[in-house]
Amino acid sequence: MKEILLLKDGEIVLKGLNRRQFEDVLKKNIKIALHSLGRFEITSAQSTISVRPLDDGIDLDEASERVSRVFGIVSFSRAALCEEKSMESVLATAPVYLEKQLRAAKTFKVEAKRSDKKFPLKSPEICRELGGVILSKYPHLKVDVHHPDVTVYVEIRDFGAYVHADSLRGAGGIPVGTGGKAVILISGGIDSPVAAYMMAKRGLRLTAVHFASPPYTSRRAEEKVVRLLQKVSRYAGPMTMYTVPFTKLQEKLRDDCPEELFTIIMRRLMMEISQRIARDNDCAALITGESLGQVASQTIGALNCTDEAADMVVFRPLIGMDKQEIIDISYKIDTYETSIEPYEDCCTVFTPKHPRTKPVLKFVKEAQQRAGFEPLIEEAMQNLKVTPIYPEA
Ligand code: ATP
Ligand code: MG
Repeated sequence: MKEILLLKDGEIVLKGLNRRQFEDVLKKNIKIALHSLGRFEITSAQSTISVRPLDDGIDLDEASERVSRVFGIVSFSRAALCEEKSMESVLATAPVYLEKQLRAAKTFKVEAKRSDKKFPLKSPEICRELGGVILSKYPHLKVDVHHPDVTVYVEIRDFGAYVHADSLRGAGGIPVGTGGKAVILISGGIDSPVAAYMMAKRGLRLTAVHFASPPYTSRRAEEKVVRLLQKVSRYAGPMTMYTVPFTKLQEKLRDDCPEELFTIIMRRLMMEISQRIARDNDCAALITGESLGQVASQTIGALNCTDEAADMVVFRPLIGMDKQEIIDISYKIDTYETSIEPYEDCCTVFTPKHPRTKPVLKFVKEAQQRAGFEPLIEEAMQNLKVTPIYPEA
């Protein structure tokens, strides 16, 4: 039996004139997500995208999994394509294809949609006929039109007739790439991978920036960030990661700035450098995993000082979330176990004993200027390491 995936697109329905463009991006993202599984034909009509495998033996379980992580899809189902667009073919296909679900259920109903108005039977007739056949094959079943255990869907479309059971929930959001591009500041922690996921969900294509301070931070710490991004990229799509050599800047910070301002100036340097990388990569925003009040560098005062270092808008999708809420999402996107592996982050190198929770911007800027970081920033920009990131298989 030939199977296809049927996807309903979500918020993009609301976008009126942009709809075509949104749908094209969505189809391209689906294509990229499925690429390594074989060839597929991806077409759209009447707010449904159909994904039809073109090769034999394609793993549709894995294809469904991958599709469930593509933003812009509200729901999806796996359906059997009837051999012909005829009532006989529907009657022959549905009870066999949905046998497992029908055997497990006590009640069911049939819902029919007929967008091909040339089909000889009207929707209520399709429901009645198929309902009768299912009842005679599975006599334990009863019809319940209000709260059925299983709904059998029949759709008669221009390109064929197909049947499927209840659909599954898609990833929601809007297609990655339709909202522009942004830089995610990614550490090896729990928060920033979640922030990346959340902003990709709002349609942003991501470029990742990671600050590393060898030998204070290890090669393994950087590899951990690569693995985290590979997981994020199952949702956000392929991306580029830039590793910034941060050691000299941090050493200068330690040697030439007041200790209680280490953290805040370090965060400002991260913003400045990330913004330069953003500009070079056509990105118009920065994203961080900061959450209000979580640590000393995430108070209102500290965030005001950090913000001032960048002209671009800074998205902090976790700002109002509790740690547990963030952890729940990290479980869902499967980054949690990797995030808690214990490696040093550059943030934990040279941490002051008493960081300023209410830094005064004027003094922070003066201290930063006195130290004179510009030559080292330029040097770091000349020595960025580029790592291409693809979704973890
Ligand atoms: P996370 O769990 O994401 O590390 P955190 O709660 O540990 O966050 P901080 O260490 O203060 O908080 O970092 C705040 C934000 O700064 C991070 O969410 C991330 O966006 C960015 N950041 C921190 N360290 C790095 C780094 N080494 N490279 C790039 N960005 C970083
Ligand atoms: Mg951290």
